[in-house]
Amino acid sequence: MHFETLAIHDGQAPDPQTGSVTVPIFQTSTFEREDLDHRREFFYSRVANPTRSALESTLALLENGKHGLAFASGVAAMNAAMQVLKPGDHIVAGCDIYGGTIRICEQLMRPWGVETTYAASESTEDYLACIRPETRMIWLETPSNPLLQISDIRALSAIARERNILVAVDNTFSSPYFQRPLDLGAHIVVHSTTKYIGGHSDVIGGAVVTSDDNLHHRIRNYQAAGGAVPAPWDCWLLLRGLKTLKVRMEEHQKNAMHLALALESHPAVERVFYPGLPSHPQHELAGLQMSGYGGMLTIALKGGLPAARKLIAGTKLFILADSLGGVESLIASPAKMTLGALTEEQRRRRGCTDGMVRLSIGLENAEDLQEDLFNALATI
Ligand SMILES: *Cc1c(COP(=O)(O)O)cnc(C)c1O
Repeated sequence: MHFETLAIHDGQAPDPQTGSVTVPIFQTSTFEREDLDHRREFFYSRVANPTRSALESTLALLENGKHGLAFASGVAAMNAAMQVLKPGDHIVAGCDIYGGTIRICEQLMRPWGVETTYAASESTEDYLACIRPETRMIWLETPSNPLLQISDIRALSAIARERNILVAVDNTFSSPYFQRPLDLGAHIVVHSTTKYIGGHSDVIGGAVVTSDDNLHHRIRNYQAAGGAVPAPWDCWLLLRGLKTLKVRMEEHQKNAMHLALALESHPAVERVFYPGLPSHPQHELAGLQMSGYGGMLTIALKGGLPAARKLIAGTKLFILADSLGGVESLIASPAKMTLGALTEEQRRRRGCTDGMVRLSIGLENAEDLQEDLFNALATI
């Protein structure tokens, strides 16, 4: 079956007891046991809950994986995935990744004895150069944040498998609709379901998907023991989001492509970062591992931070906010917001300049969005 059919039907058959077409919200902490010697499949909602189980099996299926696990946030999912490592192990991660992932590596993993080295996100050679004898995980986020660089999942997974290294991919920007890292050889996929999977800016959540039984059992154990599980209501919102993921992603991409092309020829714009543009340095690789280019784009303005401030202040439809992947278009300054904790030198080394503006392209009409951006650009 195709993606959109699975998203609507799999793991979500009508409720056997009532016929309810949507999966009920099992808002209960505990379940009656049969007797002292027998417990049912569900007995306590931190360990397992039917609404969460429906979400977990749907997520696994859409990533073409065997097992899915849902978490209370994206960072909770990412932290859980890294717990398969042990003190002394080493991670090689792309450097252009979500700031919260770097926080996990530096503030949680490093004091615990797991070091991370950061490679240039777009360079397979650089990832390989960073590998040490104790490297046990390569962490990829592709397309990257905020530069939309592409890491070669297939090439790195092949090399990593020869060396007994796990490959984990943060697939938040593409969603499983445009990219399925397990099919490309990765061991683990992680998501902030807060973004495209939820899709409506109304829920915080995360997920881990793998086809490896052993990895699944260890991460599942951490999920139950660590306890960062999502509420049944949040799982229901995510199940609802998943049903329209295909149509939303297609529209996000259509709007983003329209705007990327329009912005590329605007005189105030120095550069547009969007993997769908032929001018993107890894456009060809993106086409090989993704079935679409997504709804995120970043622009660098010729006028630096003052120009970025004017653009951000001048837009009426684009909302100044930190998240992404929702129906409404958002605008953000990586230098002042997501990467604001870094020094200017650290940001420059990552290739992030003060004149960059990140856009999460929503589902409004593309002409309206272009007019809004061009009106604001005219004030620079
Ligand atoms: C938002 C985000 C995260 C963190 O997810 P939360 O749901 O905010 O905890 C991780 N990776 C990427 C790429 C993100 O955009």
